[in-house]
Amino acid sequence: MTRIVYVNGDYLPETEAKVSIFDRGFLMADGVYEVTSVLGGKLIDFTGHCARLARSLKELDMAPAVSDEELLAIHRELIRRNDLVDGMIYLQVTRGAPGDRDFAFPDPATTPSTLVLFTQSKPGLADSPVAKVGQKVISIPDIRWGRRDIKTVQLLYPSMGKMMAKKAGVDDAWLVEDGFVTEGTSNNTYIVKGNRIITRPLSNDILHGITRAAVLRCAAEAQMEVEERPFTIDEAKKADEAFFTSASAFVMPVVEIDGATLGSGKPGPVATRLREIYLDEMRKAAI
Ligand code: PMP
Repeated sequence: MTRIVYVNGDYLPETEAKVSIFDRGFLMADGVYEVTSVLGGKLIDFTGHCARLARSLKELDMAPAVSDEELLAIHRELIRRNDLVDGMIYLQVTRGAPGDRDFAFPDPATTPSTLVLFTQSKPGLADSPVAKVGQKVISIPDIRWGRRDIKTVQLLYPSMGKMMAKKAGVDDAWLVEDGFVTEGTSNNTYIVKGNRIITRPLSNDILHGITRAAVLRCAAEAQMEVEERPFTIDEAKKADEAFFTSASAFVMPVVEIDGATLGSGKPGPVATRLREIYLDEMRKAAI
């Protein structure tokens, strides 16, 4: 089956979808994106992703391409046209394609933004076998720009980080700045000491994860203790448990950091429980 994608108002087979070579997303990484998971044909935390998209666009002085209602309709139409059961929907908005390459932003009246959405099917997304054994991570320096709170399409360093992890024979990398963990290459990071969950507070240093917000709500409802403060890799290595969160990995246990095994070397009870609660709650609220 050919995948059907959405480009600026049209639903097209992926082989016929086109974006200009002058698109600023391509020339300058001048764009933002969102990823919403789909479980059982329904969208997980769509409202959260819409709200963050609006914030990212505002921070970059870009006008919303379409309304939230239209965005929901497009997501649902892509699920329908692609018979998507489990997977992700990627949404990319760029500052469009002016005729010439220029650093200055084009006038939005004459250069509309480019809006692209596509699906990625991942059957059994929530039953990932890795979640049962946990992931191994290494630490690497965080050399990204200073506005990581904006979900831009500049993903070169996170890609390099994933490659460093692959080369080291592990699953992912945690980024470290000024001695403290900022976040993972594509996720927010946590450690657990006793019953306390520790995670870096929100700032421009990290992406404001939609899963992070939902998981912290779940933790509060389950009377789990949460402390929002930065932590070091040394502290993480000595923690009882660690995990990360993202829209596509949900709550993912981490069992090894820079070669040091955490706890029993198996996913810990806090991460395991939070994953269950999060998935339960999110499936119930899916639209
Ligand atoms: N931090 C970074 C750098 C990310 O790329 C992501 C995932 N896009 C996250 C955190 C987690 O955000 P969310 O829970 O909204 O997927």
